[in-house]
Amino acid sequence: MHILPDLPYEKDALEPFISKETLDYHYSKHHKKYIDELNRLLKNSPFENDSLENIVKNADGSIFNNAAQAWNHNLYWRCMTDNPEKPSDGMIKVINQSFESFELFADEFKKAALMHFGSGWVWLAMDDEKRLKIMSTANADTPMRYGHHVLLACDVWEHAYYIDTRNDRAKYLDNFLQIVNWSVVWDNHCLAISD
Ligand code: FE
Repeated sequence: MHILPDLPYEKDALEPFISKETLDYHYSKHHKKYIDELNRLLKNSPFENDSLENIVKNADGSIFNNAAQAWNHNLYWRCMTDNPEKPSDGMIKVINQSFESFELFADEFKKAALMHFGSGWVWLAMDDEKRLKIMSTANADTPMRYGHHVLLACDVWEHAYYIDTRNDRAKYLDNFLQIVNWSVVWDNHCLAISD
C-alpha cells in the first residue's frame, strides 16, 4: 500500500509563488489520485509488494504511469520550500562546472521547460558518468528509467500552474526557480555521486 506523503509545508506556504488553491488541487486531488489509482492497479499484480522506485524502474503501462507520477510528485514537493535560501558554495561549484554559471543553468532549465511540448517534467539529473544535465520528459516519464539520478524536478503539466499563471509557463518557471530547496538538491547530488 503506497501512501500520499505529507507536504513539507502548509498549503499556503509557497504564496505568492504558488497559490494555496493550486497546492490544494495539485496535491490533494492530482497527486492523491495517482497514488489511489496505483494501489488499485497493484492488487494481484506482479508489482504488488515492490517499492515505488522498483515499480517506476520496471513497470509499464498504467502501473508505470501512476507509480512514476506518484514518485515524481513526492520529489517535486520536496524540491520547493517556504524558506528559500541561495545554493551553497558547493552546489554553485557543481553547477558552474556543468553550466558555467548559475544564471546560465537557470536559463537552460527554463528554456527546456518552455520548449517541452505538452505535459511532462523538467529535471536536473546526473548521468551514469556523473555528469549533470538538464532533461525534459513527457507525461510521467522520468530520467530514472534511463539509469540517471534525479536532483531537481519541476512539474510542467498545466495542472501545476494553470490556476495561477494560466497559459504562462514562463512565469511559473520564474516563480518555481525562486523557491527551489537547494539543500534537497544538494542532498540528492551527494546521494547520486556516492552511488
Ligand atoms: Fe503534477
